[in-house]
Amino acid sequence: MLLKSLKLVFVLALLSFASETPKNIILFIGDGMGPAQITALKTVTGTPNLERFKNAGFATTYSEDEYVTDSAAGATALATGFKTYNGAISVDAAHQKLKTVLEYAEELGKSTGLVATCSITHATPAAFAAHQPSRKMNNEIADDITASGTDVIIGGGLSFFLPKSADNSAREDEKDLFSKLKSSHNLVNNDNEFKNFHGKNLVYLYAKEHPGKANERTLSLKEMTSKAIEVLSQNDNGFFLMVEGSQIDWGGHANESDYIISEIVDFDGAVGAGLDFAEKNKETMIVVTADHETGGYSLLGGSIAEKKVTKTEFTTKGHSAVMVPVFSFGPGSDVLTGIIDNTLIGKTIIKYNQN
Ligand code: MG
Ligand code: ZN
Repeated sequence: MLLKSLKLVFVLALLSFASETPKNIILFIGDGMGPAQITALKTVTGTPNLERFKNAGFATTYSEDEYVTDSAAGATALATGFKTYNGAISVDAAHQKLKTVLEYAEELGKSTGLVATCSITHATPAAFAAHQPSRKMNNEIADDITASGTDVIIGGGLSFFLPKSADNSAREDEKDLFSKLKSSHNLVNNDNEFKNFHGKNLVYLYAKEHPGKANERTLSLKEMTSKAIEVLSQNDNGFFLMVEGSQIDWGGHANESDYIISEIVDFDGAVGAGLDFAEKNKETMIVVTADHETGGYSLLGGSIAEKKVTKTEFTTKGHSAVMVPVFSFGPGSDVLTGIIDNTLIGKTIIKYNQN
């Protein structure tokens, strides 16, 4: 009897230990999403999906060389666990490669995905699958993404995957990355094909360069995220997925409150799809954070009852250094609470993708 109950305790201990390492990780990055942006989301929606999280914290975002980070250094910290200089795509100051969580996941035989509402070669998604000394190197970043083995790619930036002589190409050479991807992935060409796709290895480059604003896009970030999860979750080894709400940042740069709000509402819908999956799946960790805040945005007037923001101020056309929120859910997420540095997020999700 005693032996039996000891055995049970041992098994339970093993089980609870095992449950601390998530099989799947979905990292949501709201580019430029600070506390005011989230307050605006709460104001206009009443109960955003972000409110479903119990674990929350704040992350510092400074880069290796600047108090105010850019998106490249910010994404590098989240993807690799290391700070670097502004503009760097997952390389250090000596231009040495910093291994990313996506690369660790690939090594473990997991499936991997990148979803964005900007060009897939833009700084945030790039830092997960590319290594370049400058974020401006779209051609080289597209080369890296194509070679990375990323299983699901959904974003803009088609023009960087077409040879120079092709219509709509933005490349400076004749490399045909589109055909290369076609040999290893299922490429869909329109929303209908996308919605009806059920299989593995999906690429949808749904805009020549950057997609339009939320109200101009024909697919919500929620639809893109749900499809990515459907495709990636077929792998019994698990998956890593990064989803970026890219244009919350652009609303901040433009100092346009309505632009910020429509983008963060779209982003919050995608987070909801991730949570719906994780709540059922029970082996999935969700992290929602930002690379930095944009606009020095503040809310000075509005109405909770009428769900509207009426008076806003911006202190910059650029980024600010204020800490960004960190929400997390699922096995292994307890460590990402309190005041942390952005590198802890990268180090933690990498730890869960190592043997
Ligand atoms: Mg970005
Ligand atoms: Zn920005």
